[in-house]
Amino acid sequence: MRKFLHTGLVLTVLVAGAWYYLHGVLPRPLPEFEISGQTMGTSYRVIVVNPEEKELDTLGQQVQERLAGIEARYTTWKADSELSRLNTARPDAWHPVSGEFCNTLSGALAVSRQTDGAYDPTVGYLVALWGFASYEEPKSVPDQSAIDAAMANTGYRRVQLDCENQQVRKHGNVSIDLSGYVKGFAADEILMLLNQAGIYAALVEVGGEIATLRSNRSPGWRIAIETPGMPETRPPDVIHLYSQGIATSGDYRNYFEVDGVRYSHVIDPASGRPVSHDTVSVSVVADSTMEADAWATALLVMGTERGLEAAEKNSIAAFFVDRVGDTLTTASSSGFDRFSDSR
Ligand code: ADP
Ligand code: MG
Repeated sequence: MRKFLHTGLVLTVLVAGAWYYLHGVLPRPLPEFEISGQTMGTSYRVIVVNPEEKELDTLGQQVQERLAGIEARYTTWKADSELSRLNTARPDAWHPVSGEFCNTLSGALAVSRQTDGAYDPTVGYLVALWGFASYEEPKSVPDQSAIDAAMANTGYRRVQLDCENQQVRKHGNVSIDLSGYVKGFAADEILMLLNQAGIYAALVEVGGEIATLRSNRSPGWRIAIETPGMPETRPPDVIHLYSQGIATSGDYRNYFEVDGVRYSHVIDPASGRPVSHDTVSVSVVADSTMEADAWATALLVMGTERGLEAAEKNSIAAFFVDRVGDTLTTASSSGFDRFSDSR
C-alpha cells in the first residue's frame, strides 16, 4: 500500500480520466487502425493493431452491431429494453430473461456481495430520485422522506437469480441500474469479438473504461491516468497492461451543485445519498473490465481509507485520488503497483 502527497492547484471543476498511447513503444510500430463512434450516451474507441485491411469494414460493422445490441438490452432509457422490462415486471414473481442478461446481472451482484453493497445495481430509484436518470439537469436535493421511500426498495439481496432456468425474481418493487457495470462489460465483449476475428492486439475504450489485449511477445499498452490539478511538471501515473481492463469512477464529470455542495451521480446505498468525501476518483485494474468498472464505483463509495482496506483484502488493484484542502493526494493498493511504470 502506498500513499503519495502532491501539492497542486485545486481546480473548481476537475477533469480526470484515463488516456492511452502506444506510439514510440515498439521499434517499428505495427499499423494501427481506429474504429470509433457513439454508444450508450457516450463515445467508444477501438484501436486494432495490424488487421488485414480488407477486414476492417466488416469489423467496424460487427463492433457497432454488438454495441447496439448491448445498449438495447441494458439501457434504462428505453421502456422496451430487457432491463426496463424486468424493472416494470410484477414483483415477487419469476420473470423470464435471456441467458446473457442473467449472467451479466449475476456478475454484477457478485461484486455487490464482495463489496458489502457499496456497489449495488438496485440503486435505480435513488438514481432517479437524485435526478441522474433523466435528460434534464438535476438541481434539487430530495426530502429525507423521499430518500427513505426509495431506500425501502433498494438492496441487492432483493434480487434472486435462477440462471439455469433463465429467470429473475424481484422481492418487492426494485429498480435495477447497470450503468456502473455495462460499459466495462461492453469493452470486454468487443475485445472478445475482435479476438475471435483473429486480432491479437487491441484496445477498446467505452466511455472511459478500457479493455486491452496484447500478446506477451510485444510491449503492453501504456495507459496514463490523468490526475487533475497536479503540477504540470509531474508526469502522469503510467501503467502497463497486457490483457487487463481499467475502469475509473469519479465525482467530477456527472454532478450538480446546490449551495456550494457537490452531489455526485454515485450514490452511497447505505445512506441513499450521493457520496460526499474527499475521494475524487478511483481507478481499478482487473482481468475483467466489467469487474473493474463495478469495483471502481464501490471503492469511490467507500472512499480511500475504507476502499484501500477492501482492495487489499480482495486483492484488487486500485488507485485513489483525494482532494485535501489545496492538495491532491494519490494512494494505491499493493496489487496496483505491479502495473505501474514508475514504482
Ligand atoms: P462513470 O459513468 O463515471 O463511469 P460509474 O461507472 O461509477 O461512473 O457508474 C455510475 C453510475 O452507476 C451512476 O450514474 C448510476 O447510474 C449508477 N450508480 C450510482 N451509484 C451506484 C452504486 N453505489 N452502485 C451501483 N451503481 C451505481
Ligand atoms: Mg464505472
